[in-house]
Amino acid sequence: MDCIFCKIIKGEIPSKKVYEDELVYAFNDINPMAPVHVLIIPKQHISSVNEVTPENSAVISRIYEVAAKLASELGIAESGYRIVSNTGADSGQTVFHLHFHLLGGTKLRFEMC
Ligand code: AMP
Ligand code: ZN
Repeated sequence: MDCIFCKIIKGEIPSKKVYEDELVYAFNDINPMAPVHVLIIPKQHISSVNEVTPENSAVISRIYEVAAKLASELGIAESGYRIVSNTGADSGQTVFHLHFHLLGGTKLRFEMC
């Protein structure tokens, strides 16, 4: 499968990793929209929120646990942040491997997402 994020997880495409465990990989967005812009993704290929099922949804709670940990480590837990997952054409989703944008470090405009 020709998926850029699967290749990042496998190390075939370089990334600035900020976290990894057996379920989740997190790395800095290549085109940051805010001072903190991390992408948190499942290691399993799931195309979008549309493909989340009872069988694969455990990774979603892990992703939110990782988001809380990274927000604390990156110093934005108190100032605030936004977590976004674009799904489908109307949202502007460009990479069809489920990902959660963790955005913070500045006053976020609503248009940012
Ligand atoms: P979305 O538009 O929600 O599908 O978000 C895809 C995100 O992936 C965008 O914010 C891109 O900047 C980011 N992105 C694409 N390719 C890479 C890459 N090789 N490394 C890091 N981030 C990437
Ligand atoms: Zn993938």
